[in-house]
Amino acid sequence: MVVNVVINGYGTIGKRIADAILKQNDMKLIGVAKTKPDYSAIIAYRNGLYIYTLRDNIDKFEAAGISVAGTIEDMLDAADLVIDATPKGVGAKYKSLYESKSKKAIFQGGEKGDLVEVSFNALCNYDKALGKKYIRVVSCNTTALCRVIWALKKNFGIKKVRATIIRRGADPHEIKRGPIEALVPNPVKLPSHHGPDVKTVISDIDIVTTAIIAPTSRMHMHVFNAELEKNVTVDDVIDAFEEAPRIILLSETNGFNSTAAFIEWSRDMGRKRYDIYEVPIFKESITIVNGNEIWLMYGVHQEAIVVPENIDAIRAMFELETDGFKSIKKTDNSLRILKRWPE
Ligand code: NAD
Repeated sequence: MVVNVVINGYGTIGKRIADAILKQNDMKLIGVAKTKPDYSAIIAYRNGLYIYTLRDNIDKFEAAGISVAGTIEDMLDAADLVIDATPKGVGAKYKSLYESKSKKAIFQGGEKGDLVEVSFNALCNYDKALGKKYIRVVSCNTTALCRVIWALKKNFGIKKVRATIIRRGADPHEIKRGPIEALVPNPVKLPSHHGPDVKTVISDIDIVTTAIIAPTSRMHMHVFNAELEKNVTVDDVIDAFEEAPRIILLSETNGFNSTAAFIEWSRDMGRKRYDIYEVPIFKESITIVNGNEIWLMYGVHQEAIVVPENIDAIRAMFELETDGFKSIKKTDNSLRILKRWPE
C-alpha cells in the first residue's frame, strides 16, 4: 500500500515533512496547503508540488503566478491522511473538518494531548499508534527528552529525571519573537510544561523540568540529570547512546563545543536547511556522580527533530510496518540519519 499524504500548513515543520515524504517509497505527497503566496509557496510550486489554499485566497495565488490545484477541502478529498503543521492551536480548529472527511490526521506538538488518541514518539510508543486515526507528534523538546530517557531507561532503569531546557527565542526566519537581549524564565513559576508533556508519552516517569528562553535561533539545549536504577560508568552510558537510534555523540576533540558547531557541521555535510534530525550529545558532558546519577548536555534542532517521527507515525497509523524499529530504520536510511560520526 502507498499512503496518500497531504500537508496542511507549509511552514517550518510542514515543508520539512513534505521533503521527507518525497524520499519514502510507501507514501506519496499529494499536495500542500498554503495560506499566502509567499516565497516558500512559489518555490514549492516551481519544484512541482501541488498547492492548495483557502477558497478566498485562490485569486492571490493566481496573481502571484501559482496555479492552485484546489481548496483545502479538495486536498483532503484526495488524501488518506493529513499532516497538520499549522501554527499552535490552529490544528485543533481543523480537527472537525478532518473528521467530517473521515481522514486520519497527525497533529504537531503545539496542540494539546487531549486532542488525539496517542501522543507519539517512535522509540517509546510506536505500537500504541498502530491503526489509530488521530495522533500528535510531541514537540521538539519533548521528542529529545523522550529519546534520551528511552535509551537510559531501557539500559539502566530510571528513578527520576530533572532537566533544564534552554529554549531558542525564535526560529531563524521569524522576526516577531524574542528575547533579543535577556534570559526569560519560561515560566517564572516552576516547573515548565515539558515534564508533563513527556508523561503523555512515558506515563510512569518521575520528571520535573524548568525552562529558560535565550536569544538564539539555531537550537535548544538541555542540561539533563537523572538518577538511574543502577550504578553505571561513563562508558556504559556511551555504549547505550551509541546503540540508540537518532542519538549521536559528538566530541569536543572534533570541535563540538557549542550549538553553533553542531549547525556548522550540518552545513559542512551539505544537509538541506542544515537539518539535524539526531539528538547531538556533547560526548564529554556525560558525567556520573555517586555511581548512579547522570548529567549530560545536548542540542535540539527544533526545526528538524520531529520530521522522522512524523514519517514513522504515518507508517504506524496505516500499519505499513508493525515493527517500530523496522520503520525507524527505513526512515533513518531515507533521511541519512547518522549513528556515528565520522562514519
Ligand atoms: P510555522 O508558523 O512556521 O508554519 C505554519 C504554517 O501554517 C505557515 O505556513 C502558515 O502560513 C500556515 N497557516 C497559518 N494558518 C493556517 C490555516 N488556517 N490553514 C492552513 N495553514 C495555515 O509553524 P511551525 O513552526 O512549522 O509549527 C507548526 C506546528 O509544529 C506547531 O504545532 C508547532 O508547535 C509545532 N512545532 C514547531 C517546532 C518549531 O520549532 N518550529 C518544533 C516542533 C513542533
